[in-house]
Order: sequence, then structure tokens, then C-alpha cells
Amino acid sequence: MGREMKRILVVGGAGYIGSHVCRMIAARGIEPIVFDNLSSGHRHAVKWGPLEVGDIRVQGDIERVLARYKPDAVMHFAACIEVGEGERSPLRFWTNNTGGALNLLNAMATTGVENLVFSSTCAVYGQPEFVPISERQACHPLSVYGRSKRAVEQILSDVANVGGVRCAILRYFNAAGASPDGDIGEEHDPETHLIPNALKAAAGIGPKMKLFGTDYPTRDGTCIRDYVHVLDLADAHLAALDMLKMGERKIVANLGTGDGVSVLEILGAIERITGLTPKYEVCERRPGDAPVLSADTAYAEELLGFNPVRSDIDTIIEDAWRFHRRQWGI
Ligand code: UDP
Repeated sequence: MGREMKRILVVGGAGYIGSHVCRMIAARGIEPIVFDNLSSGHRHAVKWGPLEVGDIRVQGDIERVLARYKPDAVMHFAACIEVGEGERSPLRFWTNNTGGALNLLNAMATTGVENLVFSSTCAVYGQPEFVPISERQACHPLSVYGRSKRAVEQILSDVANVGGVRCAILRYFNAAGASPDGDIGEEHDPETHLIPNALKAAAGIGPKMKLFGTDYPTRDGTCIRDYVHVLDLADAHLAALDMLKMGERKIVANLGTGDGVSVLEILGAIERITGLTPKYEVCERRPGDAPVLSADTAYAEELLGFNPVRSDIDTIIEDAWRFHRRQWGI
């Protein structure tokens, strides 16, 4: 039923997940058009189609690009993501993440673009009642970041209910890894995520890594997370879009593996794979960190055929390490 797609607008396509999705889109013979203000994305990560520099806070910027390229769908990755920053600058998060998505929806409505895949997060759940977390669990986000994303989900639901958009809401657990050829990967500044920080510490770049809390009620006292390879995430975006094209109006799916890996287990795997010991110091818990987060993946498997084949922790770390060695020239 779904007709051939020619172009997809990738909002935030110069960023970490967006650039990997662009690569996958291009591999399918579809042209990814990147819309990005380059505030945290990188021009050098836009390799598979044109870059349109613009700001999601300006509806006219998005409308201009939608009208020019007439894409078959939009994938929306552009957002502020650093949880701590959201607590300090809530207005910035609400404006970018929620206001930006509203502008995008309005621009899609005025230009007649129907299909949207939206980057959401397991942060919408807050402290889960049970793990693994299914999509049916209540959402009580604990951070400004989580609330700014949850609000977009609610807006999308309302608009999809009256046929204003077809949308897939994908709730990522911990995106990690890099393109296996070392070409693109995670490049945040400042970097707050565990794996790049631990690899940096292993490579002896910068100060020791801070390990936030060893007194959690987990098997080794450190937090457990569900790490999913960025290319597995990318696959799921295309599968979700296929479902929208086949007539689904609204999809909400967790993207994780269902497995949990602790911070100390990550450090151990890094040591095993790189032969280097990441130096760390034990610090206070980071506010808002849940002890254990992992995805119930049954729905994503059933609906999207999601099969995270690259997400075992060794593959994730090998790919990330290959990318960072190249990035750091080591
Ligand atoms: N973490 C850490 N040191 C760091 C970065 C992260 O100990 O430099 C811990 C963090 O407290 C959490 C886990 O590693 O338990 C994963 O954190 P990350 O920021 O990568 O992702 P999050 O789960 O917050 O989305």
C-alpha cells in the first residue's frame, strides 16, 4: 500500500542519532534532507544529502524547507538533551523541545506533510513502577527534559486523533555506539554520557571519569541501563515509517534491548576491549538517576520487527572506540 518514498526531512539530522538515520535512509535509496541549526550538530556529519540551516523556533524556516522539498515524511531529532541543563534553563528546553515540535507540526499542516517520526525518550516514564518498562506504564517524568518530550507526545496524540498527522513516537533507552566504519559517532560538547566519557578516561584524555553513585540497590551498587546501538535505533525509524505508510495512525514504542548493564560492567567491558583501564573517581549520585531502567521490547518486536542485532555491549563499545580513536587521533 505504501508508495515509494523519495525524500525524508530529517530535523536535527546533523546530530548523533539523526546522522545515523540519514545514513540508513540513503542506504534505502531515499534522499535525506537535513534541517539543523548546527547549535549542537556538526556540518561534517551531513554526508548523504543537502543541509538546510534553519531553526525550529522559527516556523517560517521549516515551512520554507518543507515547501521546497515536499518530503514524504519528517523525522524529528532536534532537541536539547542534557538533563541537568534542563533543570537550570527550563524555558530553553520548553521553547526548543516543545515549542519547536509545535512549529514543526504547524508547518507540516500548512504544507500538507502527513507522516512524522518523533524522537522521544524513556525519561518520559520517570521512576518506573516495574522494570522492564512497557509502553503501558504511566508517564511521570521527573525532569524538565522528560516533561518537555512528554508534552510533545500528548500534543501528537491529540493531533493524530483528529487525523492531523500520522506519527510514530519512539522512546529511546540509552543510545550508544557509532557507525562501524568509524565515520560518524557521538560528539556532544560537553559530553555527559557514560560510554564516551569512560572511553575518554581509558584513553587518558582529560580528568578521571566521575562515577555517579555506588550505593544503588543493584547487583554491584551502580546504575543499570539498557544500551541500544544507534544503528539499531536507525533501523526502527524506517520500520516505523513503513507502518505509518501502511496506514497506522499512531505508534508508541520503546526502543531498547531488554537487557541491563551496570556502570561498572561498562567499565569492565571497556577495559577488556581496549586493553586500557578507565580511571574514575566515585562521586555522589547524580540527581534524578533511577537505579534500573530497561525496556520491555515485546511491542517493538511485534509491531516493528525490532531486532537489535548490533546492541550487545561489546559491539557497541568496539564501534564507539573505533570512532573515538579516529576523532581523537589515537
Ligand atoms: N554516568 C556516570 N558518569 C558519567 C556519565 C554517566 O557514572 O560521566 C552514569 C549515570 O549516572 C547513569 C549511567 O552512567 O547511571 C548512564 O548515564 P548517561 O548519562 O550515559 O545516560 P542516561 O541514563 O542518564 O540517559
